[in-house]
Amino acid sequence: MPQIADAQTPSPPARSAAAVPAIKVPLLDLRGQYQAIAAEIMPILEKVCESQQFILGRYVTQFESAAADYCGCREAIGVSSGTDALLLACMALGIGPGDAVVTTPYSFFATAGAVARAGARPLFCDVDAASFNIDPAAVRALLEQHCERRAGELVHRSSGTRVRALLPVHLFGQCVDMAALRALALEYRLRLIEDAAQAIGAQCADGARAASVGDVGCLSFFPTKNLGAFGDAGMCTTQDASLAEHMRVLRVHGGKPKYYHAFIGGNFRLDELQAAVLQIKLRHLDAWTAARARNAELYAQMFSRAGLVERIGLPAAAAGARHVWNQYVIRAERRDALRAYLTQRGVGTEIYYPVPLHRQQCFAHLGHAAGEFPIAERAAAESLALPIFPELQPQQLQYVVECIAAFYS
Ligand SMILES: *Cc1c(COP(=O)(O)O)cnc(C)c1O
Repeated sequence: MPQIADAQTPSPPARSAAAVPAIKVPLLDLRGQYQAIAAEIMPILEKVCESQQFILGRYVTQFESAAADYCGCREAIGVSSGTDALLLACMALGIGPGDAVVTTPYSFFATAGAVARAGARPLFCDVDAASFNIDPAAVRALLEQHCERRAGELVHRSSGTRVRALLPVHLFGQCVDMAALRALALEYRLRLIEDAAQAIGAQCADGARAASVGDVGCLSFFPTKNLGAFGDAGMCTTQDASLAEHMRVLRVHGGKPKYYHAFIGGNFRLDELQAAVLQIKLRHLDAWTAARARNAELYAQMFSRAGLVERIGLPAAAAGARHVWNQYVIRAERRDALRAYLTQRGVGTEIYYPVPLHRQQCFAHLGHAAGEFPIAERAAAESLALPIFPELQPQQLQYVVECIAAFYS
């Protein structure tokens, strides 16, 4: 239900007294979802506590098998976070120093961070303006124009690194054009890792689910994702049984049998308590996704009725595919002023992401200049995420649209 602003809300300056928010619309509020399922979850948590089996117990196994089915994958390996899923994928595929991974400059930091932590170099390619996802044409241009075959290896000319993999991100809940990337991976003999942290349940136009197409799919169950744990959690998926086995060994420090280490792994385990929560929540995911899609549809209708579709860029969902709307991201003129205006009126927003990855200070050594990936840079300057979570009421969406209309009028 819409919340009435409480008496503690600081009063805005007198000259804008009319702007006291009547309704509050947070970017995300997980309390309603929890209340609806608390009665299902608490008894399971008690069971785990009574068993005192906190590490790799039956709930991890059960959740892995349910999540593998849900994603259309043969295998799923529960891990400690989405970030660790990406790192584990790189490690399992033997990506390390001297290697390069082709990825997007417009994502959460962990995408390129994991590549760098594996010791490899992120090679950025610009995104597509409509979907914000990596543009397969830009990937092809990079591989054709800036790389060459030397002794059977694909070498990125200017850095001298071996190009090993493509790492697309299904940003905001919408699938990358995986058919095109898979064709490129086959043609150039590259591994394909999907960052599906924001996209569990999303489908490509051909019906393939996010995290089921590449060599490894990486999921995050961070609380703000569509399937959120009660803390950090993640998963690697694959169709390849031997790769799955390798990831399972690397998840426990690379020891198999225990205390005998042919490989250096890490502690990448998914907690039993988190698996118990996630296993329950997975049963509700399709209903929550449907509510997100309904909210996206309502926004589109409301923005159109308010005459705003010329003014702001609405997110485009590719026809025939399944967008799961982890975020509803518009493009806005005078974005920062709009955001301040909405904050003052009780509407929560966020900027995903203000600094594209190639412009992050920690990647300065890669030598990318401003303007090198102009579509990603423009997206970083214009994008604004609006509230889209399943429990939102139509009046709350209407209020968001009215506030935006008022800002531009
Ligand atoms: C959330 C996220 C991650 C990292 O997941 P964590 O579980 O928070 O470590 C990686 N990539 C993308 C695109 C994400 O949105």
